[in-house]
Amino acid sequence: MRLVLLGAPGAGKGTQAKMLIDKYGIPQISTGDILRKAVADGTPLGKEAKVIMDKGELVTDEIVIGLVKERLGQDDCKKGYILDGFPRTTPQAEALDAELAAINTPLTDALSVDVPMDDLMKRLTGRRTCKSCQQMYNVHFSAPAKDGVCDKCSGELMQRGDDTEDTIKNRLDVYEKSTAPLIDYYNGKGILKSVEGTGNIDDIFNKVCSILG
Ligand code: AMP
Repeated sequence: MRLVLLGAPGAGKGTQAKMLIDKYGIPQISTGDILRKAVADGTPLGKEAKVIMDKGELVTDEIVIGLVKERLGQDDCKKGYILDGFPRTTPQAEALDAELAAINTPLTDALSVDVPMDDLMKRLTGRRTCKSCQQMYNVHFSAPAKDGVCDKCSGELMQRGDDTEDTIKNRLDVYEKSTAPLIDYYNGKGILKSVEGTGNIDDIFNKVCSILG
């Protein structure tokens, strides 16, 4: 399976991707995670990306297309992959299609995770991630037993730098303008599927699995 996950920030793409990794044994490729690692490592790319990410804007197509091409060339992607947070613009989607057409391995599915705009702000402001094991929580819906501490590994929970109210508003605007049109793009290619992303995480995952087959 070569899958693209579509959906607004906070729709739960990352959560579903992590569950799909276990079921299908294929890697998740999250451009957000790759960029956050570059920021944490203080690389030149990370320094450039941080300024853009803190504002909730998009890193240039050229940079992310380069990152994804390199990642897709690695051995663990031969069995398939889950793209999470890429593509985010039509030029990115076209570049991906061209790259995959050249090696005769087109995308098999694009799954849109649909969540009403009103719910997204609460999901994003409440989001917390464990620094050690990356387990995700939400202080409004799935709080850890002890404030700021991971239930699984007792690691420290952190809030993403771009999960602040002002940045979130911009990220949602950018999504509507630049990324939402990809739903029509993949519909036109005949590979679009969609799932309602509200409710219990396991129930959503079961729906995702039956949609993907
Ligand atoms: P995410 O974790 O997917 O929400 O991404 C966090 C931030 O990384 C975004 O707000 C963008 O600034 C940047 N980013 C991630 N993926 C992309 C992409 N495909 N194109 C441009 N910028 C991206």
